[in-house]
Amino acid sequence: MSDELRAARDRMYRAAEYFDVADELVERLDYPSETLAASIPLRCDDGTLLQLKAWRCRYNSTLGPTKGGVRFHQSVCLGEVQTLAFLMTMKCALMGLPFGGGKGGVHVDASGLSAMEKERLTRGYVRAFARILGPERDIPAPDVATGEQEMAWMASEYSELEGRILPGAFTGKPVVLGGARGRTAATGRGALIALEEMRPKLDLPNGGLKIALQGLGNAGIWFAKSAVEAGHRIVAASDSSGMVSDPDGLDIETIAKLKAEGNHLSDLDGADLSDGADIVSADCDVLALAALGGVITSENADQVDAPVILEIANIPILPEADETLRNKGIEVVPDILANGGGVTVSHAEWVQNREGLSWSEERVDDYLESQMKKATCRTSEAMDAQHVDMRTAAYGAAMVRLCEAISVSGTAE
Ligand code: GLU
Repeated sequence: MSDELRAARDRMYRAAEYFDVADELVERLDYPSETLAASIPLRCDDGTLLQLKAWRCRYNSTLGPTKGGVRFHQSVCLGEVQTLAFLMTMKCALMGLPFGGGKGGVHVDASGLSAMEKERLTRGYVRAFARILGPERDIPAPDVATGEQEMAWMASEYSELEGRILPGAFTGKPVVLGGARGRTAATGRGALIALEEMRPKLDLPNGGLKIALQGLGNAGIWFAKSAVEAGHRIVAASDSSGMVSDPDGLDIETIAKLKAEGNHLSDLDGADLSDGADIVSADCDVLALAALGGVITSENADQVDAPVILEIANIPILPEADETLRNKGIEVVPDILANGGGVTVSHAEWVQNREGLSWSEERVDDYLESQMKKATCRTSEAMDAQHVDMRTAAYGAAMVRLCEAISVSGTAE
């Protein structure tokens, strides 16, 4: 087992100490039920042939078909995919969805690929894993460096292979192909709902908050837009090119436009750029982490100044940093709650595809809001019941649901 997965599971075992769950049931969540590895050939535009390593992991399907994104990134490896599939298992359970947890990925630097290369790779991914995919088996979605275009290619390839149209086999598709309205904004919007709903549990001033935001991809930008609309200020923001700050609040519309055109903060007119790593110690009420995983480690955890961290990315805080943050009294709104809005709207999409209907954006937003509120309430009740930090409470609430389902399902002899 990879160190990454072991460390992630340790968080579950920590929660198991406080909640009424039988050891033998928790142990069923120890290791993924199925992981497939593949080598995908990719013919590049210049004629060269690459062999890319790829994986799809179905961690646990007790609550329903496995669900989770596919990422294209050079960090992707077996351990990362399994760890993220474990996280999806906890997330879907906490969010109250009828889904198990899965994840997939390709070890590739997607920024170097042309659109045609990406399409060939995406279709190759579906061919490699088609035998374990399907609307009632395992349902991929967007993740790092994949979005609605990749989901459209995946759905098209899968329909070709199956010889029938199965729109519910993928979520995060363009609306014209049965995607849910509001899916793109869902993770960022959901993160703001989680933060607002958790406010009674957080030591934060009343009114507008000062937020420092790491990561300006889809989730980060939509979170920033929603936060500004709700009266908060983004006082610092960073991407891979560096950090910009303004105590009066950055102009998010301009930054969003710049990012949508494929540019970086360093391309911003008159930008006074500083080192992106400094965002960790920015003077703010909330540090929102929406970039990649593993940005807060045991090395830099003591530099965090914010009283609250909002985990919009998956595993932005390594388990090795948990104790330092706890000792400093920093409260963390954990990933399985904070970014649960994405998979929640994926569920809305899957439901629409099964019914052959198309919901209005308002209906999708209402569903997102009510699911986020319920999950926040579950977490908050678990905090009160066991006097634990928010992550332990969220894992506890997820595990209680999972273990009950595992228990009543029994075991095939
Ligand atoms: N990749 C997203 C996540 O990590 C969304 C998954 C989904 O919609 O299935 O939650």
